[in-house]
Amino acid sequence: MELPKKMRAAVLYDWNDFRLTEVDVPEPQDSEVLIKVESCSICAGDVKIITRGMMGQPPMGEFIIGHEYAGTVVKLGPNVEEFAVGDRVTVEVHKGCGRCKNCLDGKVTVCLNYGNTAKGHRANGFTTNGGFADYAVNHVNTVSKIPDNISFDEATIITTAGTSLFGIERMGGFIAGENVAVLGPGSIGLMAVQCAKALGAANVMLTGTRDERLELGKELGADNTINVKKEDPVKKIQELTGGIGADLVLVTSGSEAAFNQALKAVRKGGDITLLAHFDDPVKVEIGLAIQKMNNIYTIRGEGRQCTHRSLELMAEGKIQAKPLLTHSFPLEQLREGFDVFMERRDGAIKVVIHP
Ligand SMILES: [Zn+2]
Ligand SMILES: [Zn+2]
Repeated sequence: MELPKKMRAAVLYDWNDFRLTEVDVPEPQDSEVLIKVESCSICAGDVKIITRGMMGQPPMGEFIIGHEYAGTVVKLGPNVEEFAVGDRVTVEVHKGCGRCKNCLDGKVTVCLNYGNTAKGHRANGFTTNGGFADYAVNHVNTVSKIPDNISFDEATIITTAGTSLFGIERMGGFIAGENVAVLGPGSIGLMAVQCAKALGAANVMLTGTRDERLELGKELGADNTINVKKEDPVKKIQELTGGIGADLVLVTSGSEAAFNQALKAVRKGGDITLLAHFDDPVKVEIGLAIQKMNNIYTIRGEGRQCTHRSLELMAEGKIQAKPLLTHSFPLEQLREGFDVFMERRDGAIKVVIHP
């Protein structure tokens, strides 16, 4: 197949200023594949990247944004046997260096050489170029084949699903039969509800402020929903759990209120995982966790092959992406896509961009 030399890519020039620019089509290096991007979703992480920046971000005027993409393999770099030209694939963000203490331990999303490409680390769309472009290169470690019954659009959500699943994985142990509270019905929260149900959770309780999101949560498997503007979520969770509290609490809303609700709503000896980004310092009643001997876990990204597991859950029909994919735009309208996403216009949850 004859590939073009040039392509279109959304390059970040300044805060909140990205422009479609003609750049060279990247060449896949050792153990990399070149992907023709078919779909790339906008994520809250992208908003952070374009408005305030993230650790290790490439310089303005060079950086191609976008990290939740799926497409077709069109070229192989040296030493690639895992994939073939024509494979339908999706990607995850983090490729660890493979040589630091954390990578050797499987904690690739917190690689000690984060941002150091010379040592082999890559975070696609964070520290290296991403997928709001016609083509993108990826190391094989971050590429997964898409099962036939999953579309490119659906496959873009695999990092989101993998993040929710990783939050559950970090708590360890069984989830079947446990009561799970999910605080925040964003895309990670809605995926967390589905993952919890898929893993056999008994009573999944979803809290939030918008009825339409809670309604969707119910359609996706939440047994109970609580609008925190109308009801006290802590009181309600206590009621729904016979006064004991939730066995597991997943905090997917990065707010002080949600963190405090988690501390109050969790069972004595129960677990909390923080999946949300907390951009500002928060004041929490941490003493409660000590009195109740609660474990508080955090996650970074979609570690431990959770994207692969999410793809399997999706292929089995146990988690769904379609209800979350509310809008789509061509690459030329990426700006509008971001505006719709950032303003949550017309109930936007996930906005998919098509190059
Ligand atoms: Zn993301
Ligand atoms: Zn590493």
